[in-house]
Formats: sequence, C-alpha cells, structure tokens
Amino acid sequence: MSYDQITVPADGEPVRVRDAEADELIVPETPIVPILYGDGIGADVGPAAREVLTAAANATGRDVAWMRIYAGESARERYGENLPADTVEAIEEFRVAIKGPLTTPVGTGYRSLNVALRQRLDAYANVRPTYYIEGVPSPVVAPERMDMITFRENTEDVYAGIEFEAGTDEAERVREFIETEMGVEDATHDGPVGLAFKPISEFATKRLVRKAIEYALEHDRETVTLVHKGNIMKFTEGAFRDWGYEVAREEYGEAVITEDTLWEERDGDPPEDAVVVNDRIADNMLQQLLTRTEAYDVLATPNLNGDYLSDAAGGQIGGLGIAPGANFGDGLCLAEPVHGSAPKYAGQDKVNPTAIILSGALLFEYMGWTDAAELIESAVGAAIAKGRVTYDLHRQLEDAEKLSTSEFAAAVAEHVRRLA
Ligand code: NAP
Repeated sequence: MSYDQITVPADGEPVRVRDAEADELIVPETPIVPILYGDGIGADVGPAAREVLTAAANATGRDVAWMRIYAGESARERYGENLPADTVEAIEEFRVAIKGPLTTPVGTGYRSLNVALRQRLDAYANVRPTYYIEGVPSPVVAPERMDMITFRENTEDVYAGIEFEAGTDEAERVREFIETEMGVEDATHDGPVGLAFKPISEFATKRLVRKAIEYALEHDRETVTLVHKGNIMKFTEGAFRDWGYEVAREEYGEAVITEDTLWEERDGDPPEDAVVVNDRIADNMLQQLLTRTEAYDVLATPNLNGDYLSDAAGGQIGGLGIAPGANFGDGLCLAEPVHGSAPKYAGQDKVNPTAIILSGALLFEYMGWTDAAELIESAVGAAIAKGRVTYDLHRQLEDAEKLSTSEFAAAVAEHVRRLA
C-alpha cells in the first residue's frame, strides 16, 4: 500500500491477521502502530501516551515503530480535508492503532469524524472499562465498587448521522412521506421540524452482544446487562433487547442463562460459571450505577445509551481524564480515550493523559502483550499513589503535587522501568 502523506517506518513490521473473527493476530517484535494525536488536547496527551507505551514495550523486550496518521485539524493542514483515505487505509492495513480526540462542531459544520472513522473501519464495538484506581479522588463514597465494562454498538442508532434539517425541502419530503405514505397522523407539530433516523439492526445488535458475552465468558464475569429504552422505542431499542436475548438463548448453550429462566427454573441460583444475561431500562440503569454499582459487570448497549452511560460511569471513578476505551472490529483495534478534545486546555501541557495511556494498555492486551499492559496499569497506579498527579486530580486531593501532562507521563514511564 502506498500513502500520500504518511511515512511508513522502515524499522517495523505490520501486524497480520490469522483469523479475523477470532481476533487472532500475528504480532511481530516491532510492530508498526499508527498513532493519531487528534485535535485540542490530543497534541498534549498523544505524545504522553507514546512515551509511556514505548517504555512498556521496551521494558518487556519489544519495541513499537510508531507511524503518525492524521485527521481533523492536522489533516486539514496536510491534505485539505478532515478524514483522508490515507488514514482509514493505514488503520485497515496495520490493524492496531491509537488515536486522541477529534473535535466535532455542534449544530452546523462537518459530521463527527470519530463516528465516520468507526463506521468506515466497521469497528463495531466501542469498549469502555470503568474500574477504580486506588488513590484517585472520586465524587462518590465507594468508587471501588465499580468494576464494569461497557460494550457500546458503534455503527448505527441515531449516530448513523441520517438527519434532515428543519425548514429544508428534504425534511418536508420526509414529513410528507411519514404522514401520507405511512399514514402517521399529526406526526409532528406544525412549522419547521428537524428529523432523524434511528436504525437498529438484528445483524449489528447480535454481533455486539456476542462480543460482550464472549468477553464475559473469557474474563469470568458474572453478568451481561442489555441496556435499552425499549419501553418507549419498541421497534429499535426493544428489538435490541429481544435480539440480545436471542443470542444468549440460542448460541451459548449452558454457558449463558437469561435472568427470567434463572428465576423460573433455578430460583435465582445460577449454574456454576454461567454468565447471566439480564436487561435494564436506560434511565433506571443510570441510577443503578450509583445505588447498586457492584451488581453490574458487563453492559451491552445501543450507541447513544452507551455514550451517556460510560461518561457517567467515568465520572464515578474519577472523571474523564482517567477513562480509557477502544473500538474493535473483527481483527482490528483502534484505541481511544472516552474524553473529547477539551479545546480550552489545548496546548497547555496541563490535562491528564491517563485515559489515553490506559487505552494504549487495552491495545497492548489485544496484541497479546498482556505483561506490557499490566505494567502500564501498575505504573499509572504507582504514580497516582505517590500523589503526583495532573490538575484534575490535584484539585480534589490534599497534599498532592501538581504535574503537567508531560511530567506525569515521564513519572509513569519511570515507574514502568522500575516495576519491570
Ligand atoms: P471533553 O473534551 O471530554 O471535555 C469535557 C471536560 O472533561 C473538560 O472540560 C475537563 O473537565 C474534563 N476532561 C476531558 N478530558 C480530560 C483530561 N484528559 N484530563 C482532565 N480532564 C479532562 O468534552 P466536550 O467539551 O464536551 O467536547 C469537546 C470536543 O470533543 C467536542 O468537539 C466533542 O464533539 C469532542 N469529543 C470527541 C470525542 C472523541 O474524539 N472520541 C469524544 C467526546 C467529545 P474540567 O474542565 O472540569 O476540568
């Protein structure tokens, strides 16, 4: 593959896929890993992640050949467009990549580049672990009760971006179709109305729920909770719940049991090692996160619910500076933090790089570099335990030392080398 503005490092080799569906990779000792710093604070946290991840690779006898790729502001400068083909093709070719945040204008302007990138790569599961790191200040009394991982569907729902602007000819034609062709009387109020389309398919739901159940089985998790608003949106979110249960009932034999069967047939007592699949309505789920935190393990959600829920869960374990994530397709991983580009802090060497560093640990885990991933997690924990933290944690801690982004990354890299 040849690229227009990307320099492929000569000192690395590409990761290859042995079996995409089974996520079996062939990872060389020095893999080429595309890295996209992103907009706003991406320029601060991107290099910080690179420093720590390189340290962890080296400390475990490996190396990373980083390859810069571009989207958003950096792509506009180089290519004159937001999301160049180079970027999508490079991630497709090299299979594992890490990105910082990208800005999305509200109301007007271009559509979300994050959403477009996930859709074009068919990276259909956005995975967001939320677990407590000792020493991180939290707004809740017992943050250690949370140890949860959210599997958010990444390719459809209202994020499909099929919207019609109020007052346009297109919006009027869609309204006309709904009222006349589909016979929905008084579908909207009179006057201008914006309309959006919310596709939820059996195919996308089932492959997402499979990923969540397989994760639960592999990692000895006890429950998978389908989070939906099916009481109101019956044929989209209600269908998500029904298809999710179908996967649980039809594809995993005795390894998985649904909550209703559990009560009907076993009086609430699950078979040993079985994963219980249950469901919760999304608004209830948001309060249960706070009131019954420990009851939740793995969540499987449509796109919008997962976005809201994982930010709320991130808040409970110390804020967005801490919360990592990754987008998975079949044989592909694009790691990225949960947070956005926080433009007011851009270029100040101020924000917390933990979220993107821990996203890198998820990427290493996917590559089979479990020792390096664990080393990163321990090193982050060690830096925080010493009370040497960035502004977001510093403002909630007494007697802590405030570090810049780059100082914190250097401290974590130092712990990586010491702990190796
Ligand atoms: P945001 O960038 O996540 O920032 C919201 C607040 O979260 C910040 O003001 C800050 O809180 C805290 N925060 C975020 N990242 C942090 C970090 N690394 N360290 C410490 N604190 C951090 O959300 P936003 O302001 O709603 O969105 C800004 C832009 O990012 C928008 O264009 C949005 O579309 C985009 N976005 C992109 C992605 C993505 O690329 N995947 C995700 C979400 C949003 P305090 O000010 O209280 O310290």
